[in-house]
Amino acid sequence: MASQIAGARVAVVGAGMAGLVCASSLQAAGSRVTVFDKGRGPAGRMSTRRGAVPFDHGAQYFTARDPAFQADVDRWIAAGLVSPWPARVVRIESPGTPARDSTPQVRYVCVPGMNAVARALASGLDLRTRLTISSATQVAATWRLGTLDGVLAEPFDALVLTAPPSQTAAVLGAHPLADMARRATMAPCWAVMAVWPDALPLPYDAAFVHGSPLSWLARDGSKPGRPYPHAWVLHGSPTWSEAHLESTADDVTRALLAALAALAPQPLPVPSDVTAHRWRYARPVAALVDRCVWDAEDRVGLAGDWCGGPRVEGAWTSGRALAQQMLNLTDADQHA
Ligand SMILES: Cc1cc2nc3c(=O)[nH]c(=O)nc-3n(C[C@H](O)[C@H](O)[C@H](O)COP(=O)(O)OP(=O)(O)OC[C@H]3O[C@@H](n4cnc5c(N)ncnc54)[C@H](O)[C@@H]3O)c2cc1C
Repeated sequence: MASQIAGARVAVVGAGMAGLVCASSLQAAGSRVTVFDKGRGPAGRMSTRRGAVPFDHGAQYFTARDPAFQADVDRWIAAGLVSPWPARVVRIESPGTPARDSTPQVRYVCVPGMNAVARALASGLDLRTRLTISSATQVAATWRLGTLDGVLAEPFDALVLTAPPSQTAAVLGAHPLADMARRATMAPCWAVMAVWPDALPLPYDAAFVHGSPLSWLARDGSKPGRPYPHAWVLHGSPTWSEAHLESTADDVTRALLAALAALAPQPLPVPSDVTAHRWRYARPVAALVDRCVWDAEDRVGLAGDWCGGPRVEGAWTSGRALAQQMLNLTDADQHA
């Protein structure tokens, strides 16, 4: 069975961190992997917003706790894809209270944008973008994938799903694993990206905020390799974003800029450029403890931060764990 998986045709849905790490590991072991993503490029929630001013509007930075993840981070640093972010990060308990330095830790960012590692991982893979997978059906021991335009010609021997849980459940339809995905819930996040020509009167680079519509703000321009020093990202809190999920981008922009102004000691100038983005599925509310799910009989696996933990490292852990489980399973079978 090891050689079967090693030579198997594997479809991976989702080119975020989990999907790319899983796909790379399987390909390194000899699987013939095709990755599908509905987006314009890889990275998922580690995307960098394109436009006149590029922005990290999803994941802001990441930390490394697992030595195995740290080893990959070190390789990315050596390749110039990642750098520590020596930012002054503070905690604000409520508007009007003093900012206190947050717990010191090494925070990493990709360079020049948060999508850099994903792009590097994807460069060695057969990645098909702008392709939404809408269904997956088992036909004679293979998986056939449906898209909005019809069923793909290629059959696959194994299927890996790394989209957020409700999208994974929709693809799986009546398969029993869909129930597990349906039970996982995600919180949304509104992101506002604003650029000023000059420095704002805020004596920090980033802040965790409480008692406000905002939960986080960061001067994107303080990260290494970013060309606009006074570009800021504002994130609405999960509760506020949920309550304003269907608000217009203009209304959200106004509200989150007003929340930012409430943190400043003097009125803020009008930004020269501002946009908003809604992440409907931003962060998992509760993660599965198993890191990933692998149904060896049907050859279908699930991974993502909603399995491995609500951060970049959780997605990496989950994607890697699934690849290992798929390959270990085949090793065990081979030696049985
Ligand atoms: C606003 C925000 C801030 C965050 N801040 C941080 C942070 O500071 N630090 C941190 O560690 N983490 C942060 N995170 C979380 C981190 O971004 C995620 O945990 C991680 O990137 C998830 O990776 P993933 O591969 O599991 O999922 P994703 O990155 O979501 O990848 C899933 C992919 O599946 C694709 N897809 C979905 N449905 C389909 C379909 N039907 N067909 C084809 N493709 C499909 C999507 O386009 C996407 O590319 C943040 C997330 C958000 C949204």
